[in-house]
Amino acid sequence: KERIERHLYDVVVIGAGGAGLRAAIEARLAGKRTAIISKSLFGKAHTVMAEGGAAAAMGNANSRDNWMVHFRDTMRGGKFLNNYRMAELHAKEAPERIWELETYGALFDRTPDGKISQRNFGGHEYPRLAHVGDRTGLELIRTLQQKIVSLQQEDFAETGNYESRIRVFSETTITELLLDGDRVAAAFGYYRESGELILLEAPAIVLATGGVGRSYKVTSNSWEYTGDGHALALRAGATLINMEFLQFHPTGMVWPPSVKGILVTESVRGDGGVLRNSDQKRFMFDYVPDVFRKQYADTEEEADRWYTDPDNNRRPPELLPRDEVARAINSEVKAGRGTKSGGVFLDVSTRMPAETITRRLPSMYHQFKELADVDITKEPMEVGPTCHYVMGGVEVDPDTAAAAGVVRGLFAAGEVSGGMHGSNRLGGNSLSDLLVFGKRAGEHASAYAESLDKRPKVRTADVEAAAGAALAPLHRESGENPYTLQQDLQAVMGDLVGIIRREGELTDALKRLHELKLRVANVGATGGRRYNPGWHLALDLRNMLVVSECTAKAALEREESRGGHTREDFPTMNPQWRKVNLVCSLDDMGEVHLERKPLPAMRPELLELFEYGELTKYMTDEELS
Ligand code: FAD
Repeated sequence: KERIERHLYDVVVIGAGGAGLRAAIEARLAGKRTAIISKSLFGKAHTVMAEGGAAAAMGNANSRDNWMVHFRDTMRGGKFLNNYRMAELHAKEAPERIWELETYGALFDRTPDGKISQRNFGGHEYPRLAHVGDRTGLELIRTLQQKIVSLQQEDFAETGNYESRIRVFSETTITELLLDGDRVAAAFGYYRESGELILLEAPAIVLATGGVGRSYKVTSNSWEYTGDGHALALRAGATLINMEFLQFHPTGMVWPPSVKGILVTESVRGDGGVLRNSDQKRFMFDYVPDVFRKQYADTEEEADRWYTDPDNNRRPPELLPRDEVARAINSEVKAGRGTKSGGVFLDVSTRMPAETITRRLPSMYHQFKELADVDITKEPMEVGPTCHYVMGGVEVDPDTAAAAGVVRGLFAAGEVSGGMHGSNRLGGNSLSDLLVFGKRAGEHASAYAESLDKRPKVRTADVEAAAGAALAPLHRESGENPYTLQQDLQAVMGDLVGIIRREGELTDALKRLHELKLRVANVGATGGRRYNPGWHLALDLRNMLVVSECTAKAALEREESRGGHTREDFPTMNPQWRKVNLVCSLDDMGEVHLERKPLPAMRPELLELFEYGELTKYMTDEELS
């Protein structure tokens, strides 16, 4: 019989990025005994890598900014497929969440008159990103961790035990959620270092596990991002929406090969950087779509004037939403106007003094110097699209962050949840999203735990089954190699479900994913249980596979191009498809089912924030009537 360490909590938060930490703080403030689980070291999450900033309509840089403008920009960026209520809550509550961080000890860069400084980013009408140089995520995570430590100190003063109300389990991976009927009852996993098994019983569980990028070879995501939360939710009976929408960030490093995919922050363009092809042409002027033509400059002169006089000029097209810029770069490279390494040039060296570059973009300066031996104050960077963010995710109730589907007690916030960003996320809207909905998830998970008159029960048979599944790859000595399987999966997703998609290739992808599923069922890991990355990957593969299947299925179903989903065979947006969410669930046999569900209709007073002419570009006549 396996030894399994057991713990009892009120709320278990899976994930220690911004969403998880903010949720945990809220649960602890509500008096709940709270556990935070993190697959990697505490403090290492995508949140810490966020560079540009957190979008919040505080109106510090331009007093015309307010939540309504932010709401409009978010809906436009998502091509009106966003869950409008999430976009509304996000725009309204983001400023409060940023100011609150300062009460936790955050120090954002300042305007000359001492307010929180805000920078420009693609798709945002006004400068809106609160930032700390290009290391905003670091400040965010540092502050949230500091708040947790201060709460632990309060608990120590009261109980003599720092971990009496909030405890962090780092380097611990959750592999399964256990249920009592239709209610979550526990999270099951293992310590990465020792390989020992652990069970955390709780009536309420918050998923805050971030993204899915490791299913693609060229990605800005780090090793942990294997869609675990998405898969855990599916297996527990929750649903995923709009998994076809993946954000390929336009600017990842393309050279040298060992660093291909690493992010080049959008702040480079926000601060004045321009994109050029191998003919030295600023090609983005050729790629402004009709729906955005009114807001973007059509000459270089106007675009350049905008940086100092945004009220009387229109924005440079380099600051179009990310999906537009990524497709444009893809087209330039395909047309033979790319760089030798298959990217385009991104230049700040001719645009601002070296001192400004090293002050405003210190991480980018070091990143290129150290990884590519390129001095960005003297020469252009080479960049190309990289898989960056998943807009699709766990379907949630917008107000409470409770997962939809047949499961109760499960909540999701941050990148793992879906709906907020529609078909494309605006830069900076993730850091604010995870603060707004992390708080809501923590609050409502606590209220749910409070409302139960008895705790759900964990069945021994379920614990044994979870332990058996976790250890199975170690017993298959002649099983398939997990690294080969991951490479094969990345090849399928990158080649057939990438930035530009076609029916034939998607059908082929689904066939290959089916073959991979059979192979993954036979994955094996050599070596023992102590820190064994092959074993860890073997367990992650199952998650990557089911999530990839949802993406491929939804991508095949959606016969239009919108945001992070581009179909060569259906190249335009179709207003009929704007009304549809694609929802994935799992049946008892582990098969993915895809269903079309109507998108909730936007409330009239929110619709009135847009000009009628703009709405006609997105909506059907029936909706507009
Ligand atoms: P994350 O911060 O990704 O944290 C996920 C957590 O879940 C981690 O602790 C991980 O270890 C844990 N986890 C995962 N699986 C398991 C499991 N099975 N068991 C236990 N724990 C698990 N957004 C912006 O708004 N502005 C920016 O400037 C910006 N820049 C970015 C730069 C880079 C390089 C990247 C990669 C992303 C950037 N983003 C930015 C996006 C943003 O950082 C992420 O979307 C956001 O941080 C996600 O936060 P999260 O809390 O949802 O999850």
